[in-house]
Amino acid sequence: MTPAEFIDHHPTALVNQLRQLVQFSTVNPPGKNYHEITAWLTRELTKRGLATRRYQIPRGLLRRTLPPAQHDYPRYNVLGRYEVKGANRTLHFNAHYDVVPVSGKWRHENPFSGATEKGWVYGRGTADMKGSIASLLMALTAVRAAGLTPNMNLEVSFTADEETDSELGTGWLVQHARIRPDYAIVMEGGEGRAVCCGHNGTLWLEVEVHGRPAHGSLPHKGINALEKMAALVRSLDDYKRILATRTWKSPNGRCHRPTVNLGGVFHCGEGAKINTVPAHASFTIDRRVLPQEDHAAAEKELRTTLRAAARQIPQCRITINKISENFACFSAPSDPFFKAMAGCVSRVRRQRAQFDVSSGFNDMHFFSHYFKIPTLGYGPGGQDYHAVDERAEIKELLASAKIYAELMTTFAG
Ligand SMILES: [Zn+2]
Repeated sequence: MTPAEFIDHHPTALVNQLRQLVQFSTVNPPGKNYHEITAWLTRELTKRGLATRRYQIPRGLLRRTLPPAQHDYPRYNVLGRYEVKGANRTLHFNAHYDVVPVSGKWRHENPFSGATEKGWVYGRGTADMKGSIASLLMALTAVRAAGLTPNMNLEVSFTADEETDSELGTGWLVQHARIRPDYAIVMEGGEGRAVCCGHNGTLWLEVEVHGRPAHGSLPHKGINALEKMAALVRSLDDYKRILATRTWKSPNGRCHRPTVNLGGVFHCGEGAKINTVPAHASFTIDRRVLPQEDHAAAEKELRTTLRAAARQIPQCRITINKISENFACFSAPSDPFFKAMAGCVSRVRRQRAQFDVSSGFNDMHFFSHYFKIPTLGYGPGGQDYHAVDERAEIKELLASAKIYAELMTTFAG
């Protein structure tokens, strides 16, 4: 029996594993049930013949990195390794196991039940990205059941905190765990016939506007920070228009443009009362940086634009703070690794694979930048990520499992 045949014969096993994963409600923030899910994942990898280790993030580092509200939520990363005799190259599979919080009314009441209906599994994390974990576990089982050995050493990592900033997840793993991959697959970002060969970077800034308080009945005596902020926000329309003229084509011919999203969290600070002239206001900027842009230059341009805009507004004093950033990444799809993956996708799906760049980011950049290795994104994906009724399609879970198994057993590096 080939791995693909085995997978076709065991759809229920795959769905049951996904359901178990969904039932650990690993909501982040704050980072719930990490201990439980990583213990389970460690067992599952060990059962499949991988030498597995769970790393707990040291308490001191956790306290220095996370806000106080998260200090009682330990962080873990799981690493499994499968050595193949005679192989000198290593293929790394990665997925994050945390999920975003839930809100709204769900079709199946409990978003952590993993209910199935008409070929879909519903629940928080099914699409992002516990479905990928279930597919990979199935692929490992199927390769063993078929009596095959992977062509390369395998590393499998299940990491924390991707939904916040990955600092103690994949960011920690690449620096501190003993891994030495030659190729990496982050199991999200590409789905269907599209293989992800890179993603945008992010630059997140907060702009504070400083005014002067006064009594609400004497507004002319103050400087209204909210009104200054409104003028500043309007004046950025020109900058948005400029960004919209900068285009870049990904390998599949899709056109990408850098973007800015203004908003996020607004603050008026203390003393923001109806009868007080607001002395403080702030907003956030989410600038997406294309893979071919120079990240530092993009930041400099945005800061210069903001300062110039503020100078045009009378008495508008601002400070710009960096909240966080992630660097874009891109691997040329001409690399043999990408060719092999395209072959697997095309054979399993019977449609030609194509390469695209994701506008959102994931953990690919850690592998791509830290190890400077070809890194791709591919998984079963789904619908309504981060939203109500998030779901993964069973057909796609099976297809991804077959693709992973096919890649393990055909690509030799
Ligand atoms: Zn994700």
